[in-house]
Amino acid sequence: MFDSLYIHVPFCAGKCAYCAFYSLGASTPEQRRSYLNTLAAECRRQAPRCQPLQTIFVGGGTPSLLSPEELGDFLAIVRDHFAFAANCEWTVEANPESLTPAKIAMLAAAGVNRLSIGIQSFKTHLRERIGRRGSLNQLPTIMQTARDSGIRRINFDLIFAIPGQTLADWQEDLAQALSWQPSHLSTYALTVEETTPLAQSMKNDQYDDDFVAFWDACDETLGKQGLHRYEIANFARPGHECRHNLRIWHGASYLGCGPAATSFDGQDRWTNPAHLQQWLNGQAPELDRINPDARAAEILAFGMRCVAGWQWEDFRRRCRRDPLELRGDALRRLAKLGLITLDADGARPTRQGLLFNDDLVAELL
Ligand code: SF4
Repeated sequence: MFDSLYIHVPFCAGKCAYCAFYSLGASTPEQRRSYLNTLAAECRRQAPRCQPLQTIFVGGGTPSLLSPEELGDFLAIVRDHFAFAANCEWTVEANPESLTPAKIAMLAAAGVNRLSIGIQSFKTHLRERIGRRGSLNQLPTIMQTARDSGIRRINFDLIFAIPGQTLADWQEDLAQALSWQPSHLSTYALTVEETTPLAQSMKNDQYDDDFVAFWDACDETLGKQGLHRYEIANFARPGHECRHNLRIWHGASYLGCGPAATSFDGQDRWTNPAHLQQWLNGQAPELDRINPDARAAEILAFGMRCVAGWQWEDFRRRCRRDPLELRGDALRRLAKLGLITLDADGARPTRQGLLFNDDLVAELL
């Protein structure tokens, strides 16, 4: 049974130059209506496999792009098909240019209690560099309305290591973000997928990759304001960590609805087609099935994204395996390399282990 739900809304106002997520940069009302009809059918089909939901995450794409009428129908689909646990955390991603006070009121009335707002940078030239559309002019209204509506848990997404971005630019972005007193900040290093327009335009460009300086600036600046790093890219005030993501990083099962959405039942993973029409046509998800030891190793590795790593008691409960029997040699090697600390109770990544997490993960898989 699932008790976490992810819904993918695959519509955006345009395509950002760095984006490798599945989304349509332009869509028609007919496409969005077909999406809602098919989503309702998928939720109806899958809801019997769910317990009262502990967490819901609506991502994309840009969920706030839906018109007020579409958003109302979307929220009704979620409310009508699923039961909610007490204190269910319900996050919706939004972009400042499409999130209006009326939409915020609808979200709050439906039970949404967490917003994740795509800022990326406050600096116009950097927003232009990554092909980010829209302005941030509405941000004061959004923050005021969200808080007045009772949505106090607010995340900003920020991006660093943008070509041409200086450390001073980044520190100013962090300071500006903090001036809004968000409860959570996600700080992503720009990853440029080969297939994106930004990758093409960077071919002859100088890429400032002073990654560690940007990384350390996050801990220093955000730490002073009470936001602590709890995962490679995520900072929160105590008690305001994203529960949905924490569960997933620690191997919890979740149901995914919508095109490109992945589901995980604790052993098998399956992903809906990353193509609106194929998903509308009912094309079957792609199944990722590996043996139980390999899946347990993957869950072990994934948990090492989090600063708290694993308590062995939790890992044994989750995977029904002993971590040291499963990957004892690799864990001891990682401890020797200084990438994790290891003791009888558990293991957690060091700063180096977070910075070089890909290497850490590769060793555990
Ligand atoms: S708004 Fe987000 S999902 Fe949409 S194109 Fe930009 S980065 Fe991709």
